[in-house]
Amino acid sequence: MRILLVEDEHKISAYVKRGLEEAGYAVDAVFNGRDALDWAEATTYDLILLDILLPVMDGLAVCRELRGRGDRTPVLMLTARDAVDDRVNGLDAGADDYLVKPFAMKELLARIRAQTRRAGDQPKSPILSFADLRLDTRTREVRRGDQRIELAAKEFAVLECLLREPERVLTRTQIAEHVWNYDSFNQSNVVDVYIRNLRRKLDDPFEQKLIHTVRGVGYRLSLHESD
Ligand code: CA
Repeated sequence: MRILLVEDEHKISAYVKRGLEEAGYAVDAVFNGRDALDWAEATTYDLILLDILLPVMDGLAVCRELRGRGDRTPVLMLTARDAVDDRVNGLDAGADDYLVKPFAMKELLARIRAQTRRAGDQPKSPILSFADLRLDTRTREVRRGDQRIELAAKEFAVLECLLREPERVLTRTQIAEHVWNYDSFNQSNVVDVYIRNLRRKLDDPFEQKLIHTVRGVGYRLSLHESD
């Protein structure tokens, strides 16, 4: 899952970015409203975290502009304490939810999970599953059958990406865009490396293989070979 973080206070931005990355999200941070619009246009985000008080163009204007363009990316607004008008205005501008600063990282992560579930029109369960594979987005636990599987943060993120759309072929770029931010995604084979790790942990010990290569295109989760 990839998030655009729009917050001009560098200390808060760094704190939030680190917390989100520790939770397995890829984060691009920008510091004004104009950059937010440019980045949102260039990249597909799973969620935009948008502060209201920003230089150049405030968060409300950014949100209205996004919605005006037909961009339905979930927007979670960050508002100052007790600024009731901000919250109302934020929702009026097309934001999906708001969070009052200062907030606990745990609360932010819960709100993000709620929004990204809603966006996919999926049932509100935090569990993603396919065949005998289960991934709990809340506890970050992965199981195949009754076996618990330990994954590194990026392995988890790649698997989550595949599990959100089982049977669909995802290109390396589609996977990478949801897992790495702009700064760290520069090697084209990085997705292959993580897929190889996932196969070693998820498929090698089992008869039924779930991760399949679609030659020249990408990867998909399926019970059947692709070729
Ligand atoms: Ca601000």
